[in-house]
Amino acid sequence: MTLSRRQLFSGAAASALSLPRIAVAKAPLASISLPGVVRRRIGSVEVTALLDGYMEMPAELFSAPSAVAEKLSVQAFKEGQPNLSPVNSFLLNLGDRLILVDAGAANSFGPTLGKLPQALEANGVSADQIDAILVTHMHPDHISETIDANGNAVFPNAELIVPELDFSYWHDDAAMAAAPNALKPFFTGARLAAKAYAKRTTQISGEAEVLPGVRSMPLPGHTPDHTGYIVTSGDASLFIWADIIHNATLQLAHPEWGPAFDVDPAQAVGTRQRALDMAASNRLLVAGMHMPFPTVGHIVTRTEGFGYVPAEWPYHL
Ligand SMILES: [Zn+2]
Repeated sequence: MTLSRRQLFSGAAASALSLPRIAVAKAPLASISLPGVVRRRIGSVEVTALLDGYMEMPAELFSAPSAVAEKLSVQAFKEGQPNLSPVNSFLLNLGDRLILVDAGAANSFGPTLGKLPQALEANGVSADQIDAILVTHMHPDHISETIDANGNAVFPNAELIVPELDFSYWHDDAAMAAAPNALKPFFTGARLAAKAYAKRTTQISGEAEVLPGVRSMPLPGHTPDHTGYIVTSGDASLFIWADIIHNATLQLAHPEWGPAFDVDPAQAVGTRQRALDMAASNRLLVAGMHMPFPTVGHIVTRTEGFGYVPAEWPYHL
């Protein structure tokens, strides 16, 4: 039997298929989602995507021509909607230790963010269980939840692992003086977080195995030492590319579009193009801090730039 589109939406489908009438319980609308927690295995490593919330990144922030941005929104079934980007962190359970990759925005970009503590709690993880915070770069949406409102460390037993050129850039007074006023709080925030973990900070540089099975990959441009991490276990790997993409709808099609707050825009474009090429040509499983939650998926080449194919929900771990 073939159902017409009209039948399908008119309710005639149920009677045409002789489906029993189903009682629907009355309940108030829940309005908000439960804390975002999605796990998957990369070999023997359990990776949990944690949703901190979302923020708006309008097309103007990327200097995207409005006609093209609008066309991409239509293609993504988002016409007339704001360009929202999630903020994600990842929890790596390496078997003998728990690692948090980045630590959310707290209240640095408004009330739609700052949900990482709830996501961790829903995941059954308390702050004192985190052994290390692996930082991709020291922007506020990646480190703000490492400290509380008084500037004290939230994770009492965690080592802070930071790319060294990022650490030095955010501590450089001349760079802070030269930065636009709107970006000066980025320097203050990075310094506050670093101060809280001063006695247990490790600076890393270049490509290196920073933890067992976790390699750093410098992806400079967005910040001077913006760094991705490749988690490998057995035959499986996951490329956590941090902020290679801030808005999947716009930048996958046009990797040459970068957000206005890239520290070195030209370098960031080159890095983005290389990371996307590498992911697509090697069929890498990727995850990003601003990719659509739960973020894990593959990159494919398209006539216009690149496309994203989300990985299916992992039924079994
Ligand atoms: Zn970011």
